[in-house]
Amino acid sequence: MLKIGILALQGAVREHATSLKRCGAEAVEVKTANDLKGLDGLILPGGESTTMRRLIDTYDLMKPLKQFISLDRPVFGTCAGLILLAERIVGSNSCHIGMMDITVERNSFGRQINSFEAPLNIKDIGRGFPGVFIRAPHISETGEGVTALCEYEGRIVMARQNNLLGCAFHPELTGDQRVMSYFVKMVREAAATRPKS
Ligand code: GLN
Repeated sequence: MLKIGILALQGAVREHATSLKRCGAEAVEVKTANDLKGLDGLILPGGESTTMRRLIDTYDLMKPLKQFISLDRPVFGTCAGLILLAERIVGSNSCHIGMMDITVERNSFGRQINSFEAPLNIKDIGRGFPGVFIRAPHISETGEGVTALCEYEGRIVMARQNNLLGCAFHPELTGDQRVMSYFVKMVREAAATRPKS
């Protein structure tokens, strides 16, 4: 069975675990560098990106996370997790993990509307996916190797760059498993083509 980690420092960990199990993968909570060993993929959940960054530093996880991505293991960042992956953040001259060639803008759907749901049409996944947005960012620029998978109100809210997948909304908070199944498939394909170690 595929083993997929969920960075468990803060945020929607349990919901991701439930969703992964429904898609036939084993979910593993990641709190230390050691927990990354033997994982086929990783989810960076939503939460608060600045808080998550602080905890990543506190638990000495920055280097191990970058190494994990360098090994081409699939990583899926949702909402704050997407911000962690981005190389550029509007209004900030630094980034966090910074390995996805995108620019993100935080809290870009208006302060007063903290959360809302909207039906999304996602390339390669399907139509009418229930997008749950909670103080969500959007992707304002994509680099050459990045494919935009979904736009909402003219703004990119989901994209892929090789083994990195990111979305601005929360697929784990719906009963619709299509987005998580797409990620699990990415993980399965990467695991199948990897030389056995
Ligand atoms: N607004 C949060 C941030 O900037 C992200 C919100 C979320 O993950 N739901 O980190």
